[in-house]
Amino acid sequence: MKDIRLSRLPHEEVSEQLKKLVTGPRDSGTFLLIGEDALPYAYAFARALLCESPIDGDACGSCPTCKKTRNILHPDLVWIVPSGKIEASKREKEQEGLEGRALVMQRWEKAFKKNPFLRYEDWASEQKIRNLHIPVSELRFAIEQIMTRQYEARRKVIIIWGADMMGTGGNIMLKTLEEPPKDRFIILVARNKSSILPTVLSRSIIINLPPLSEEQILTFLSAQLNISPEEAVSVSGWGKGSVSLTLSLLQENNRVAKGIAMELWNILPQKDPEWLRWIETATEEVDSISTTKEIVKWILSSIDPQFSHLGSKPQQLLSQPQPLREITSIVEDVLYSLDRNVNPKLTLHYLINRLYEVYKKYVN
Ligand SMILES: [Zn+2]
Repeated sequence: MKDIRLSRLPHEEVSEQLKKLVTGPRDSGTFLLIGEDALPYAYAFARALLCESPIDGDACGSCPTCKKTRNILHPDLVWIVPSGKIEASKREKEQEGLEGRALVMQRWEKAFKKNPFLRYEDWASEQKIRNLHIPVSELRFAIEQIMTRQYEARRKVIIIWGADMMGTGGNIMLKTLEEPPKDRFIILVARNKSSILPTVLSRSIIINLPPLSEEQILTFLSAQLNISPEEAVSVSGWGKGSVSLTLSLLQENNRVAKGIAMELWNILPQKDPEWLRWIETATEEVDSISTTKEIVKWILSSIDPQFSHLGSKPQQLLSQPQPLREITSIVEDVLYSLDRNVNPKLTLHYLINRLYEVYKKYVN
């Protein structure tokens, strides 16, 4: 999707709300966008704030600033994104001399252009980042940026993608968030409210993105992202009203993971030797920690009560509160082990054994 603007994004009400904030008045210069799909809205909103002659609160798309912000990076559009240890390739290091923040930004530009609905998980797995977080040095950089004047646009905007990953580091931002200087804005982007410091919440204008209907998602995917309805339907209903999640599910490794997780529920009621054989075949396809993590997450979401009508009988029975609680706790244990590099095959064996115990307890 090129030339992303507020009026082209699927949440019409949210776009209208943001356009009104572009034309003002505003109570604060700090905004917090919350929702699975919030990232492209933050960018489109920033473009509208920077545009030289906005049309009804949206970016005009044709002024010199709009032409530049179309390419994601602009000196007055500062991105802060979660990162971790990123290894530069030989070319990046030797030919392009990239390291630190410049390296992250180049990777970010590519990733965001490819998918403006990027999720933390996909960014982390594409860049092979473990322990994704926003380094405090980046928050200091954000403060420095907000305190210095814009270079060429009429305003300056800082987008912090991953406000729910700032942790207590967010405390150093409080004074800046409270009152950014005139014509400088901060847009915080988060998936959910729960992991954001109350002090950050109280300083921001909060915009929530409610889930979209399945039809809205399908229409948007085919009109703006050239994804055929047939392809999109294969994962529809699982995207929890989010374009980001639906796109993520359409990726190949996630499809494998979903397939294995779904098959598990069919194989679980069978006698031990059957699923032991299945486990061997299934784990042959899995050699990485990240795919195993995807499988584990799928196992959990496939018994989520909101999806249980899509699933098999065991899934429906296990989506009752008590077994669901037990399975959630097993899944958390397993994700914890995977974060500590326990062998994926052994972990999957362990997981399936534990799930079988729960299954026998509640279903038979
Ligand atoms: Zn413009």
